[in-house]
Amino acid sequence: MGVPVARTNDKVVATIRALRRNGFGALDELFPTVCLQELSQARRQGWKVDRSASYCGRCGASVGPGVNTAAACPFCAGQPIAWDRIIRLDVYREPISRWIVGMKFAGQWPWAKWFGRRLARAAGRWAGAQHQQQVVVCPVPLHWGRRLRRGYDQSYLMARGFAQMRGWPVVRLIRKARYTRPQTALSASMRIANVRGSFKVKPLDLSGWTVWLVDDVKTTGATLSVCARLLRKAGADRIHVAVAAVADPAGTDFKTWPGGSAK
Ligand SMILES: [Zn+2]
Repeated sequence: MGVPVARTNDKVVATIRALRRNGFGALDELFPTVCLQELSQARRQGWKVDRSASYCGRCGASVGPGVNTAAACPFCAGQPIAWDRIIRLDVYREPISRWIVGMKFAGQWPWAKWFGRRLARAAGRWAGAQHQQQVVVCPVPLHWGRRLRRGYDQSYLMARGFAQMRGWPVVRLIRKARYTRPQTALSASMRIANVRGSFKVKPLDLSGWTVWLVDDVKTTGATLSVCARLLRKAGADRIHVAVAAVADPAGTDFKTWPGGSAK
């Protein structure tokens, strides 16, 4: 009976090696086989982490090559952005949307560490050696009631995976002071009202500090904006956002420009 097990183990090891060769490095030995299979299939279908040039560094929308986003992109023109820079792995669509749903609602928490590590690599590519001093990583907080039900806090696990790769500390600088309805069920304007006043920042002086704010998905950015403003109020010099995916609030995966014209 030992042979089939050994063969299965060999297969798993071979899969991990193949994924590492193909750019899925830094995998945890405990990464479940279901996640490995997902990644392997996605890779075969050409999935890879987005290059930073393919999206706007302010709002995270897909803009494609040749669009100058130094001041703003067509998706965020005229909008105040509460952070300095955002990085993402992909648009919120298949397959990453399935992985995120698995992470949040199906107990597949190891995705969180993987997302965090991949984001850390993406962050390293554009940040280089700058801001190595006084950097702290902060997860967007989950209400304790939701955390209790889920059994884990996926944003914290993402933040920890991110921080470990860069050698930075992860600190819960913000806490959720009251329970709020899930943002996914609300319109853009209702989302802002829903989260306003629901977060509290620790009474710390963050002057001179760069804060990386980590969350799973950005849609309208209402939650991230509230958190970023609190960090700014606490004195943070620079605030960067790292999310696994950016969802198009218009629901077209950024295939149309604001106003509806095709890209
Ligand atoms: Zn933009």
